[in-house]
Amino acid sequence: LENEEMETSDIQIFYKEEPDYQNLSQNSSPPSEVSHTYSPLKPRNYQLELALPAKEGKNTIICAPTGCGKTFVSLLICEHHLKKFPQGQKGKVVFFAIQVPVYEQQKSVFSNYFERRGYKVAGISGETSENVSVEQIVENNDIIILTPQILVNSLKSGTIPSLSVFTLMIFDECHNTSKHHPYNMIMFNYLDQKLGGSSDLLPQVVGLTASVGVGDAKNTAEAMEYICKLCASLDTSVISTVKENLQELTEVVYKPEKDFRKVESWTTNSFKYIISQLMRETQSLAKSILDELGTTTVENLSHIQNQDFGTQKYEQWIIAVQKACVVFQLPDKAEESRICKALFLYTSHLRKYNDALIISEHARIKDALDYLKDFFNNVRAAGFDETEQDLTRRFEEKLQELESVSMDPSNENPKLQDLCFILQEEYHLNPETRTILFAKTRALVDALKKWIEENPKLSFLRPGILTGRGKTSSNTGMTLPAQKCALDAFRTDGDNRILITTSVADEGIDIAQCNLVILYEYVGNVIKMIQTRGRGRAKGSKCLLLTSDADVIEKEKINMYKEKMMNDCILNLQAWNEAVFKEKIHQIQIHEKFIRDSQGKAEPVLDKKNKKLLCRKCKAFACYTADIRVIEECHYTVVGDAFKECFVCEKHPKPKSFGSFEKRAKIFCAGENCRHDWGIYVKYRAFEIPVIKIQSFVVEDIATGVQTLYAKWTDFHFEKIPFDAAEMPQ
Ligand SMILES: [Zn+2]
Repeated sequence: LENEEMETSDIQIFYKEEPDYQNLSQNSSPPSEVSHTYSPLKPRNYQLELALPAKEGKNTIICAPTGCGKTFVSLLICEHHLKKFPQGQKGKVVFFAIQVPVYEQQKSVFSNYFERRGYKVAGISGETSENVSVEQIVENNDIIILTPQILVNSLKSGTIPSLSVFTLMIFDECHNTSKHHPYNMIMFNYLDQKLGGSSDLLPQVVGLTASVGVGDAKNTAEAMEYICKLCASLDTSVISTVKENLQELTEVVYKPEKDFRKVESWTTNSFKYIISQLMRETQSLAKSILDELGTTTVENLSHIQNQDFGTQKYEQWIIAVQKACVVFQLPDKAEESRICKALFLYTSHLRKYNDALIISEHARIKDALDYLKDFFNNVRAAGFDETEQDLTRRFEEKLQELESVSMDPSNENPKLQDLCFILQEEYHLNPETRTILFAKTRALVDALKKWIEENPKLSFLRPGILTGRGKTSSNTGMTLPAQKCALDAFRTDGDNRILITTSVADEGIDIAQCNLVILYEYVGNVIKMIQTRGRGRAKGSKCLLLTSDADVIEKEKINMYKEKMMNDCILNLQAWNEAVFKEKIHQIQIHEKFIRDSQGKAEPVLDKKNKKLLCRKCKAFACYTADIRVIEECHYTVVGDAFKECFVCEKHPKPKSFGSFEKRAKIFCAGENCRHDWGIYVKYRAFEIPVIKIQSFVVEDIATGVQTLYAKWTDFHFEKIPFDAAEMPQ
């Protein structure tokens, strides 16, 4: 299910970052504390302790639990920094926030705090960057709040010539400074300047995080390397944690201990039995086509016997098969189109069946069945060709039986019985309990909500839901206002006692006053875990991991071990002599720069040969790469009248503007009965143009006929011609 979210994500017009960073992430301090910072609040002793090394001018990573008021610590550092300059000199601070909601929040906190003190505060985010001069805003303000990609772009284009314009840089959620994250791109620039022997002064660097993490480290030595590497990336010389005022900290941030509950799972699942049969049937239909053709794709399908239905592994496998089928070719093109489409449909149906099995594993059979009925209703409403009719008929033959299985009270999911018992018990012990329930996928969140609403034993809970903003083919994500609304309802509405949320929405969302966190078959990495724990902020709160899988409990114990390793390593590093630590960091920086420089030389080879784009579903010809034009380096359109015949438009349910774009419609393959989603239709300046996504197409080399699939335009190295208004018909 999670893979699907990645596969079918909509065109990224919102931000120019990768979709990974689009998860909802909120401020690192709760709203109650944020509002405190508007007034000259007295800092807590541990906040002064955390701020000390940075006030001394040292490059610092401040590592302290979610909810302890790191934002306030950064205000203290910032204020001290700006005041220390003698008459005639000025400091300039930049604060980075990865997510737009965090950006908005920090901007208002900084404005409120500093504007009355006579400093100028401004901000630029991905959404406001059009039509503003970054250079001027940086020039005219003392504190600038940015989403990091803005600065990456400005450094690249030269509008900001050097990081030396700043005197202090603050990175929120600084553990992200790795790989190709925009944070790291900024620090590459910094380190190139530092190691390149430039005489310009570089800004002080401060990072904020709840957890530095340990990556894949299996022992203390590896964890140590990992943390040193993060410090090297941020040019850190001190890791600041609370040591002197631990007592005070634990009074403010209560970290619930994690408990494990092994719950029962199905002994016999009749639903699974019937669906598995349908899956075997569908698989053999696909296999018979391939056998007949004697293609190599059979080898992919021949592992069928080893595949377990209803697993993430099956999901990955079916996606691989789908990809193999799409690039399959025949001399007779009409035949090829027919076969490719049939294979596409078989594999899509198999994925849906697999999804339904996962739902039935963790929720009710009814929920899984509803999910399938929804899917078949949609199939019926769209193209509905022969293959689809056949598959629908096969499903409908079993429908009666599936309905009666789902209605049979003896088929209640034992796992839900356990969950129900736990909830009843907790609310009996403390009727004021407020719960956050984490579940793996969005489909599961919906299913659990319905289950609670329809369960008379849990009628006292009025569940709310909170999911991420990403979209899938079957679900539109929650919008930011909808997310805020759900959170507000949970905070203020006394009847709304439980909030169900997905793992996609877990990083740093701030939900005050919940005292029970239930992780329902949910495992995360060490950073995620600490932040999830931060959710349960009320005193006496509990965190329960519910799973039927002993391995999951084992994994979670490893995570706890990793957390302990991390804390040990930090203590160890803090005991080092500062000069020794700096030398170690310097060596890592030199080594990393060497690797970076030698890799940078291997630019991807441009393939200038013209290529065909074919519909990924029906293989119909769409356009040539020579007709593709690139807008603002990341959006792709097709010029010429011929292409207009190849797609059909459907009014977009939610037309929206992004920067210079106005989303008008969705576009689909015009091929008979195909209607594959190709992208969107936008108004861009004076032009109405299609914007296509490469994951909807197969690329075919004209000379050799070789077909290739790309998930992202950036992976496809063809000659990219910039959009030119003069070329367009007036
Ligand atoms: Zn098509």
